[in-house]
Amino acid sequence: LHQQKQLIAFRKKLHQHPELSGQEYETANKVVEYLNSLKPDLLIKNLGETGVLALFGQEKNRPTVFFRAELDALPIEELNDFEHRSKQAGVSHKCGHDGHTTILLALAEKVVEQAVELNVGLLFQPAEENGSGALAVLNDPKFKQFQPDYIFALHNLPGYPLNQIVIRDGHFTPAVKSVIYKLDGKTAHAAEPEKGINPALAMAEILTQAAAISKNELEDLALITAVHALLGEKAYGVSAGQAELHFTLRCWNNKRMQALEHELLTAVEQIAQKHQLKLSMETLEEFQANENAADAVALIREASQHAGLALTERESPMKWGEDFGAFTQKLRGAIFGLGAGENCPALHNPDYDFPDQLIESGSSIFYQILQAIQKKTC
Ligand SMILES: [Zn+2]
Ligand SMILES: [Zn+2]
Repeated sequence: LHQQKQLIAFRKKLHQHPELSGQEYETANKVVEYLNSLKPDLLIKNLGETGVLALFGQEKNRPTVFFRAELDALPIEELNDFEHRSKQAGVSHKCGHDGHTTILLALAEKVVEQAVELNVGLLFQPAEENGSGALAVLNDPKFKQFQPDYIFALHNLPGYPLNQIVIRDGHFTPAVKSVIYKLDGKTAHAAEPEKGINPALAMAEILTQAAAISKNELEDLALITAVHALLGEKAYGVSAGQAELHFTLRCWNNKRMQALEHELLTAVEQIAQKHQLKLSMETLEEFQANENAADAVALIREASQHAGLALTERESPMKWGEDFGAFTQKLRGAIFGLGAGENCPALHNPDYDFPDQLIESGSSIFYQILQAIQKKTC
């Protein structure tokens, strides 16, 4: 079996060779190679393109518990100059997915060393950052044969004390969705804008209206953030004929998201009509809300005690999206936070790096979750 030192070395190797969402082929190969050395009972590759699932234990009459990690990195140039710095220009592990992946391998070590009377599934999913990976895994026929009794995941959280467990009943992360509205008018000579249809005013009205609808409140989050806009071309003799507006929407739950989407679209439709503009829309980067099951959260609480880790309960959900939500919509489970230290740079910042101490604490709490389930069922 591997030592802590080797697990840290593996994490650093992943950090040096980051791959973007949907392209995690080499990362998956490294994970498969490591898992093979631990002889799982079943190993499935190419789940949702690059995902990997390892199963330890395959007994029909035992509960099955899955744990999820992510394989992808981000299109961010690393600012750090330590030895394990990213070798890939413009790409780096700035969400700690290299660490989450290593935590699952450390858990595999514990499960192999101190067997549990459960079937344990370790799921390494692709493309978390763009919200497509969890759905790709769930929709893969190779995954559909499994009906885990529980599924768990954790995310490291800079700003919280190192190794602290951060938990919440119910919603943990919001529903997040991005929309693009395209306005099609008619270009004209800049000297005769009245002969065309310039979408500039409609654009201004939509931005104003979106800000009026948007709510950044704890009790009812319905946040609309303008992220990108385009109008015409840099051709100074031409009155613009096309425009594009990109927004990201955020709500605590999926139902509220539907209502918000509808409200914004209705407003945009009315404005487009008023200005005689043709409207088309597109949605992308959809994250479903994470809904933690109460009994799964109770297991995490119990496990944190046995792992000797401090725990804090969050009053409100996190505001970022996490595509693990797709799993909690279909399966019983929960996601929780693991403090990465008060002085750790924030997620997605160019100087962030995963703290290696979390490999032990993260795999310990996962292992204690298994113990707690075993105690309950045996
Ligand atoms: Zn991220
Ligand atoms: Zn992440």
